[in-house]
Amino acid sequence: MATRHLIVGGGTAGLNAIRTIRAHDRGESEIVLVSAERPYSRMVLPYYLGRSIAEAHVFTATPAHLAQLQVQAHLGRRAATLDPAANRLTLDDGTVLPYDNCLIATGSSAVRAPVPGADSPGVHSFWTLPQARGVVGEIREGSHVVLVGAGFIAFTLLNALLARKAHLTIVEIAPQLLPRMIDRTGAEMVEKWLRRDGVAIRTGATLTAIEDAQGQKRLRFRQGEDLLADAVLMATGIRANLEWLQGSGIWVNRGIVVDDHLRSSVGNVYAAGDVAEGLDLVTGQPAVHAIEPTAMEHGRVVGANMAGRNIAYRGSLLMNIVEVCHLDIASFGAWDDPAAEAVAATRPERWAYRKLLWRGDRLVGAMILGMSSDIWTTNDVGMLKGLVQAGSDLGPWKEHLRRHPFDIKPAFIAAGTTARLLPQTILGRPSVPVGPVM
Ligand SMILES: Cc1cc2nc3c(=O)[nH]c(=O)nc-3n(C[C@H](O)[C@H](O)[C@H](O)COP(=O)(O)OP(=O)(O)OC[C@H]3O[C@@H](n4cnc5c(N)ncnc54)[C@H](O)[C@@H]3O)c2cc1C
Repeated sequence: MATRHLIVGGGTAGLNAIRTIRAHDRGESEIVLVSAERPYSRMVLPYYLGRSIAEAHVFTATPAHLAQLQVQAHLGRRAATLDPAANRLTLDDGTVLPYDNCLIATGSSAVRAPVPGADSPGVHSFWTLPQARGVVGEIREGSHVVLVGAGFIAFTLLNALLARKAHLTIVEIAPQLLPRMIDRTGAEMVEKWLRRDGVAIRTGATLTAIEDAQGQKRLRFRQGEDLLADAVLMATGIRANLEWLQGSGIWVNRGIVVDDHLRSSVGNVYAAGDVAEGLDLVTGQPAVHAIEPTAMEHGRVVGANMAGRNIAYRGSLLMNIVEVCHLDIASFGAWDDPAAEAVAATRPERWAYRKLLWRGDRLVGAMILGMSSDIWTTNDVGMLKGLVQAGSDLGPWKEHLRRHPFDIKPAFIAAGTTARLLPQTILGRPSVPVGPVM
């Protein structure tokens, strides 16, 4: 009998797993997909908001494409309960699906600041396509938008909001912008840069309530003046979609605890993407990395393992890269490790900032800021990521980078970074060309 693979969640991790299974087995197994939403990429939603792409372009697989992959799809249905002892999943309409292997790739959901009025009309999250549609429908030229939260996801929205000619105010409870992505020096630079583009910024601001005010929203704070807004966007964090697993016996911490093969505490149940707590490549510790590259890699590794390969995963690299108003901002790995040896340098005339962090001769973290038009920034973002990801012993090149943090290329080449990364880049993929599925 053909192996029955059950995939729960049709986002980045789920679809990468499906494509990898099919690349390995050429259609021999059964694949069943259960997904509350039609497959689409959350990461491109800001481009839809900014009108760079049409809504139709956010989808990553059509029903016809899934049929071509021989996937039996239950779209618009939710997984309700998992019974690992009986190898059965029950859906929200009572349908029972048996499986041999199951992948949980249910992603995460946006969480709003717990203040009165946070759920009232005119207050939006921006995590799902329906939420994105809500924002698109509400923002007009000249609208005053208050963005609550100045983390990575909020920053992915800035260009789109400005392209829509909204008047933008960012409020952040922490004393700086991007508190989980860059340090204070970098954040001050970003703040100055954004103010030049007319963005108002209030850090250290604790929101206490959102009230209706004659067709607008009034935001109240612990200190400081109220703000009036036509629309409020909350980008105040996310939480893994785990509730439905209660009672299943699957071990859960901040995400589903997985081993180096991305298996949960139950051998034939895997987890991948935002919902999984896997290894961090740099620290070797368990971590939830709710980012696209992790979801993609997890999906590929799980897909290969479900298809019968035996692939151990080295761990995922924490990375955040965002461009706002033509300023590139990125950090990799243990960029805020207080115990690491660090060197930082600025080139104010170029709006450029670098911070490199070592443990011994190994680069364990990096932070980089610079204008997108500055070719050195663009190149160095990729090379710093590569150096941290490769984890090479830099030997004498450590001293070179310490003295010349703006001269990354010789160290990147001398450390043989590309050669070290190549086998990891194709991890989870078969070495045979992928032909049409029979
Ligand atoms: C606006 C925005 C911008 C982003 N920008 C970036 C970026 O620039 N770089 C980056 O690295 N990351 C970015 N991300 C994050 C990235 O999109 C996520 O990390 C990625 O989507 C995670 O993939 P996933 O497959 O784990 O989960 P998801 O893509 O969220 O997919 C989960 C799927 O599971 C389904 N589901 C949930 N619960 C159930 C259930 N009970 N039963 C059945 N199905 C269920 C959902 O409907 C969904 O289809 C961004 C996210 C957003 C929202």
